[in-house]
Amino acid sequence: MNASRELEDRLRAIVGAEHVLVDPDVIASYCTDWTGRFVGSSSTVVRPASTAQVADIVSLCRREAVTLTLQGGNTGLSGGAVPPPGALVCSLRRLRSISEVDRQSGQLTAGAGVTIADVQARAESAGWAYGVDFSSRDSATVGGSVATNAGGLRVLRYGDTRAQLVGIEAVLGTGAVVSHLGGLTKDNTGYHLPSLLCGSEGTLGVVTAARLRLVPRETERVVALLAFDDVAAAVAAVGRCRSALASLSAAELFFAEGVALVCRSFGLRPPFAAPHPAFLLVEASGTTDPLAGLSAVVDSLVGVADAAVASDESRRAELWRYREAHTEAIATVGTAHKLDITVPAGAMADFVAAVPGVVDASCPGAQTWLFGHAGDGNVHVNVTGAPPGEERVDEAVLRLATGLGGSISAEHGIGLAKVQWLALSRSPAEIAAFRAIKRALDPDGILNPGVLLPTDPEALS
Ligand SMILES: Cc1cc2nc3c(=O)[nH]c(=O)nc-3n(C[C@H](O)[C@H](O)[C@H](O)COP(=O)(O)OP(=O)(O)OC[C@H]3O[C@@H](n4cnc5c(N)ncnc54)[C@H](O)[C@@H]3O)c2cc1C
Repeated sequence: MNASRELEDRLRAIVGAEHVLVDPDVIASYCTDWTGRFVGSSSTVVRPASTAQVADIVSLCRREAVTLTLQGGNTGLSGGAVPPPGALVCSLRRLRSISEVDRQSGQLTAGAGVTIADVQARAESAGWAYGVDFSSRDSATVGGSVATNAGGLRVLRYGDTRAQLVGIEAVLGTGAVVSHLGGLTKDNTGYHLPSLLCGSEGTLGVVTAARLRLVPRETERVVALLAFDDVAAAVAAVGRCRSALASLSAAELFFAEGVALVCRSFGLRPPFAAPHPAFLLVEASGTTDPLAGLSAVVDSLVGVADAAVASDESRRAELWRYREAHTEAIATVGTAHKLDITVPAGAMADFVAAVPGVVDASCPGAQTWLFGHAGDGNVHVNVTGAPPGEERVDEAVLRLATGLGGSISAEHGIGLAKVQWLALSRSPAEIAAFRAIKRALDPDGILNPGVLLPTDPEALS
């Protein structure tokens, strides 16, 4: 059901006329995901600017049996922010208040619409840092990153978004506001709602603000780009770096095809004179110069065919670009199927070796691009050349990952993209518990229908 004229008027009364968008040309960008693979439709986008307005919108929609699709920066890669027919889009980008840093506790409170880059900048202005970082930082929001439990480049050092959450404010699907932003580090007083809402992909509540833990600001940083002629040696090097290098802050794995694409797409020179099949980017950071420690560990690694080490900021950025530009470069080839899986560390080399064959067998001619946060066992499998609706290739890759003891989503979430394969990673008892929680916090199922849990339980493969 599309929003009626009367419902639109009531939304206008809540947020102001200019924040209820109904022009199809304006709404179009809210209805397509970053990859272009998931395209939805909606008649209305509503843009609240306060928690009270969000609560009024949720209560109104509950009364009127209208569903809401929640959206932050719309950089999600699982289609979860794309509206199914009949849903209103509730864009949280106007919730942009951000507190000063509490320098004593190392915390700040940010509204759901604050970008990750703005959290980082606010933290740094007070001599702290935010432990979460990923390349969509300029658009991705606090609300979206909490909803997806975003990971990124520093998980091996600081953990995922859930690990940064001290408190949360949210509007549940009932319309009730739950707010616990006091910032106590220790607070064992019942169920930990921040943990529950984090990673719930907007299916239980609308995150309106988060109290975030900050980490010490590290002023010294060294990056090493290492080339390997053998993928297994590159994977083994990650374990060695993790055990021997206390200052390790990132370990990213990528491959010759991806680097060649990045170089072609952005006019970069190849990182090394000779070609190599696999690359590992490791970063060490601290408050004292980590160069000596990093160099000693690099010297001890087996199988390093070439290496470039950088301490100065511009050269470090050049080396990072070979990794960080992968997602944008792949987008230039076509609409990608994005499958962000995790496998146990010991299975990563086997997974990487097997996945192109599995893709080709299920969709001949499709192309596989791999890169990942190697320290977390997280491989991003990108497939281009497969039609957006072709799902056999997704299923084949997800089954390969779970067959090796892995998970169908490391950090992007289930969204709409993987909902039919949830049972590959979760047991019937776990899914039944998910449904019970959903019924308790969103009894009428008005928040993000079809995301994470299929609306039709029979749809689970
Ligand atoms: C170039 C690129 C690189 C990326 N790299 C990484 C990476 O390294 N690691 C990683 O984890 N992700 C990565 N992502 C994915 C994405 O940026 C993250 O998932 C991010 O956290 C999404 O934030 P967003 O504000 O854009 O959320 P959206 O895309 O708007 O929404 C994502 C999900 O959260 C829900 N949601 C949004 N806001 C709220 C809210 N306030 N309350 C409740 N639910 C809400 C939506 O309904 C949807 O289900 C990358 C994306 C791109 C494009």
